[in-house]
Amino acid sequence: MTGQKNDFTLPRMSVWNKLEENDLQDIEMLVKSYKEYLNNAKTEREAVSVTEAMALMNGFVPIEEIEREHKKNPSTPLAGKKIYVTNKNKNILLAIIGSTPITEGFSLIASHIDSPRLDLKPNPLIEKEKLALLKTHYYGGIKKYHFANIPLALHGVIFTKDGRKINLSLGEKEDDPVFTVNDILIHLSKKVQYERKTPDVIKGEELNILFSSIPLPEGDKKKRVKLMVLDILNAAYGITEEDLVSAEIEAVPAGKARDVGMDRSMVGAYGQDDKICAFCSLAALFDINTPLAETSVVLMADKEEIGSEGNTSMQSNFFKLSIARLIALQEEYNSLKLMKSFMGSRAISADVSAAINPNFPEVHDHNNAPRLGYGIAITKYTGKNGKYNTNDANAEHLYSVRNIYNEAGIIWQSAELGKVDEGGGGTFAKFLAKLGIDIIDSGPALLSTHSTFEVSSKADILMTKKAYKAFMLFEKTKK
Ligand code: MN
Ligand code: MN
Repeated sequence: MTGQKNDFTLPRMSVWNKLEENDLQDIEMLVKSYKEYLNNAKTEREAVSVTEAMALMNGFVPIEEIEREHKKNPSTPLAGKKIYVTNKNKNILLAIIGSTPITEGFSLIASHIDSPRLDLKPNPLIEKEKLALLKTHYYGGIKKYHFANIPLALHGVIFTKDGRKINLSLGEKEDDPVFTVNDILIHLSKKVQYERKTPDVIKGEELNILFSSIPLPEGDKKKRVKLMVLDILNAAYGITEEDLVSAEIEAVPAGKARDVGMDRSMVGAYGQDDKICAFCSLAALFDINTPLAETSVVLMADKEEIGSEGNTSMQSNFFKLSIARLIALQEEYNSLKLMKSFMGSRAISADVSAAINPNFPEVHDHNNAPRLGYGIAITKYTGKNGKYNTNDANAEHLYSVRNIYNEAGIIWQSAELGKVDEGGGGTFAKFLAKLGIDIIDSGPALLSTHSTFEVSSKADILMTKKAYKAFMLFEKTKK
């Protein structure tokens, strides 16, 4: 047979070629608030406070308020209530309550709001070669040399001896000072640096932040630059060196999110892994204005970049407790009901994947690698060395997500994290999967993930937000 044949291949298309006029306007509005979100939420603590403020503006109320109301009047209907709950200033969970019991399952979009960075050591301040430096311990997977020679800002909290909590954000405003890690100049690099392997171009103990240079006036004291800067810190914040021990200060790239490209089609910024998914899940949730059958939950976790350990991570009790509290609002709680609820739930592990980088295309299997601007990625598994340490999503759940996306007109692509045995990584999907939740990784692809300037496609941001919204709105009975 000759002539026109049907095309049975998996379609792959640039989102840009499929957009309509109103989509372009949607992108502009969405990306404007996305960039603001990135600028104001560089750390997990800031992400929680920005998210909480947005939640309040969108009619969400703290769970404690609903619990009090419920105690007074248990017959008040819950369906349609918008609730949020926070955990230790580093996690937030938001929910719109549906009309069916939570014990029958809920939908979940879970992302993480921590990003790789340099954390100050507990006792960070030293003087070396007549300069004051801050010692750091890097957090998460970074190429250490990325953090040298760029302006850094300091974000975090300090708890003082006299009982104050200082919220620090220094280096973001136009007239703020910034900080930096100094690499060795090229003229003298030959012996000290050029023989090193890439991960050691800058070593961990060389990630010292230049902090100040003026010494105390001449005297017999040693370390006069350190003494001088302690005076400055005390004048500015009323703190002593000991107060720095009870602080959490994170050094992150200073500056704002920017448009990238002559066509302004991309966003460049620090921390898009994974605030791009956190933001898109929020935008999707805030866009829901029809009654839901199933309760929709949006969760933002911390500590994903260091293996989801600790009491603000996905492995902490916060998520389970929050769902238990939601059940307890609807009916008498017991742990059997909680387990049943998880078993009936469906989720997206909202995290980024790795787009093909034209400078290093050889690390990908191109049949299974996502492209920038080609829609939200669906990643069945991550892991390394033969799918170790990953959630390998069920075909049933993948089928369901694929259908939801197709029915909503979402442009999506199938993704894998690099060639087999090329490297690898993971997400927290595996921890939620253990609870019995059907879960799969799905989020936009980035270029230069974990660098100080990650790049995303504006078209993928729109697709991701729409995809998450469609996932929340899907009615399980149709399955
Ligand atoms: Mn991530
Ligand atoms: Mn990451």
